[in-house]
Amino acid sequence: MAERKGLTYHDSVRSHVDPLDERPPGKPAELKKLATLGIETVGDLLAHYPWRYADSREVTDIASLAVGRNVSLVAQVRSAEVKLAQRTGKPRVEAKVTDGTRTLDLVIFMPHRGAADFHVKRLVPGSLGLFSGQINIFNGRLQLANPTYAIFGHEVDEAVALEEAEWPIPIYPATAGLESDKIRAAVRAALDPLTEQDVPDPVPGPVRAERHLASRWSALRGVHVPQTEDDWRKGQARLRYEEAFVLQVELARRRAGAQHEESTARPARSGGLLEAFDARLPFVLTDGQVAAGEQIAADLARPHPMQRLLQGEVGSGKTVVALRAMLQVVDAGGQAALLAPTSVLAAQHVRTLRALLGDLAEGGLLGGSEIGTRVALLTGAQSTAERRSNLLEAASGQAGIVVGTHALLSDPVQFADLGLVVIDEQHKFGVEQRGRLQAKAANAPHLLVTTATPIPRTVAMTVFGELEISELRHVPAGRSGITTHVVPADNRPWMDRTWSRVREEVERGGRAFVVCARIDADDEADGAELVPDEPATVGEAQAAAQRAPKKPLRAVLEVVETLRSDPRLGGTAVGLLHGRMTSEEKDRAIADFASGRTPVLVSTTVIEVGVDVPEATVMVILDAHVFGLSQLHQLRGRVGRGSAPGLCLLVADAPEGTVAAQRLGALAATTDGFELARVDLELRKEGDVLGSAQSGKRGTLRFLRIVSDGALIERARDDARALVEADPDLAAWPALRAAIDLQLADGREEFLGQS
Ligand code: ADP
Ligand code: MG
Repeated sequence: MAERKGLTYHDSVRSHVDPLDERPPGKPAELKKLATLGIETVGDLLAHYPWRYADSREVTDIASLAVGRNVSLVAQVRSAEVKLAQRTGKPRVEAKVTDGTRTLDLVIFMPHRGAADFHVKRLVPGSLGLFSGQINIFNGRLQLANPTYAIFGHEVDEAVALEEAEWPIPIYPATAGLESDKIRAAVRAALDPLTEQDVPDPVPGPVRAERHLASRWSALRGVHVPQTEDDWRKGQARLRYEEAFVLQVELARRRAGAQHEESTARPARSGGLLEAFDARLPFVLTDGQVAAGEQIAADLARPHPMQRLLQGEVGSGKTVVALRAMLQVVDAGGQAALLAPTSVLAAQHVRTLRALLGDLAEGGLLGGSEIGTRVALLTGAQSTAERRSNLLEAASGQAGIVVGTHALLSDPVQFADLGLVVIDEQHKFGVEQRGRLQAKAANAPHLLVTTATPIPRTVAMTVFGELEISELRHVPAGRSGITTHVVPADNRPWMDRTWSRVREEVERGGRAFVVCARIDADDEADGAELVPDEPATVGEAQAAAQRAPKKPLRAVLEVVETLRSDPRLGGTAVGLLHGRMTSEEKDRAIADFASGRTPVLVSTTVIEVGVDVPEATVMVILDAHVFGLSQLHQLRGRVGRGSAPGLCLLVADAPEGTVAAQRLGALAATTDGFELARVDLELRKEGDVLGSAQSGKRGTLRFLRIVSDGALIERARDDARALVEADPDLAAWPALRAAIDLQLADGREEFLGQS
């Protein structure tokens, strides 16, 4: 009896064990290697998707293969011979395989001659095979060392049945000692015994039925054991939808959650600061600014926290819209905090506000206006006394507007009644910081986020999915625009022309920025998000080998010296600005530049965001090839803001055909930030594929491409909204809840970090 009970008990436990949580079948050594790929359970293993499929009738493009990674390629044997090491006499097989255009060296080290001869017999010139291993650079040559391989037709893996020979071959992200083939076998061993019931499906049945989607189980069969190309494509499509859906459900829940949160309504009031500010604005608001302003004003008037993203082209006037929102909140008796990514920018916001508000910014001072308020500034570099008085103004509510950098997030900062948080130029802020500032208000404050550079709408919907979106599509009229040219760094006449253009502009009353990637010779990049220079693929590595070596990056301290004595600038005063200067030094450098005392400013990317000097007409970016596309676009946005046309000169060492050259070409071709954001994501796509090849982690976005999958994301968003509306806690959908937890565990936060 007792025994029976025990058995029953055991059985009931077993029936609750999720087969996907079990350890994969296999030998301990193999499991250990799987663990290095982050694979611990059957579920992990099944989420280790092939990143490509080989067709045994089609060779792989060798140029596209990743250097330093484990790769698999279908190629044709060109030659194979045994060589002996000069001193030790140890044999090795040297072979060449080709895709018809390029060749790749193979080397296989062997303990004795007989084994080497055996390989040479298998590697018959002209035969096709699948080769797997790591591509390394040895003595300046690319080679695949000690690959595992199978020659098609000649000797098919015995385990592979004859009918399977024609199936697409899944190629897995692999690791040393655990080639794609072995992973494939492990996946088969884990997947084959599972039935549809064993694999929980995060996409609810009704949604699946409506969208004609297969079950998760059959999608997994499709991607891991496809019999046709159609199988894996359908499987991927289903998993792609799932990724979008799970993400959108979580975002819909967050949005719904905010709708239930309470916040203080801050409706517009007539006769207040906002009206006075508008009356003093030296320009007319654009239609876009008016429309966005109305959306924001309506949000602020509701007793639920606004959650809005304001995005638009560089220079489209986002900051003005944000300032107006802040004034509405101050008029309603609350305080507004403005977070800027740099202290230079924070100080500039304060200057703009004070200049436009005039006596309205002197509330509480003798001669100040009655409706006025104070503008406090909090940065990390302030003196103790200055900081203390600003802290006091914030805590007492005297300052209606508090502007700051990250220092605003530090604990001692308190507010009397924080009603609105504006995060300007969002790409420098993390999600967590956003939360920390919001925690400083008793009631959830309203939130407005502005982006630094425009991003495609579908990207915004995903990355900032819990936010409503307002867009400024046009820059104010009357701007003359920017012309951009790429200047090859080693072209002497072009460089001469570059510096004489700078001089001409200065003589005409303009200003010129000269941007460098570093502060001094042995300095790390100062705020520059440098694009790594290593060749990513065999094609790039082979092209790089034929070019001259790169010169070291130019540095601010060196460039400032050379320019001061450069006859081509004819004695023009040159200032400098970089991240290691104190706040006062930085402010002075910007002020001297703005006033024309030093009409040329050599700087790092600290000027990247927001710096607004309307007289600036020229921007010279040295080593432009190492900067990312959105950063270049941001930088360029610093010129051509006034009535004079802007000129951006990208001095670069970017030979034709390189990705850097494509980036710079795109930048020269358009000033449309939305278009550039699209190109940028496209150029990085290769990197995405390679990046995901490294990681077997579940929960990351593997199939969803947020740029090209816009329509799918919209569909998933609609489905998600409907579902969350009907069942906010997802009570009926445990598999969906589990999938959300998994995706949030690392995937999405990681993903957000890249934005
Ligand atoms: P963003 O933050 O979107 O890059 P800003 O708000 O800094 O842009 O505005 C860029 C410049 O354009 C500033 O000098 C600002 O005063 C000016 N500006 C803003 N709106 C207008 C407008 N409607 N007409 C003319 N100039 C404007
Ligand atoms: Mg701005």
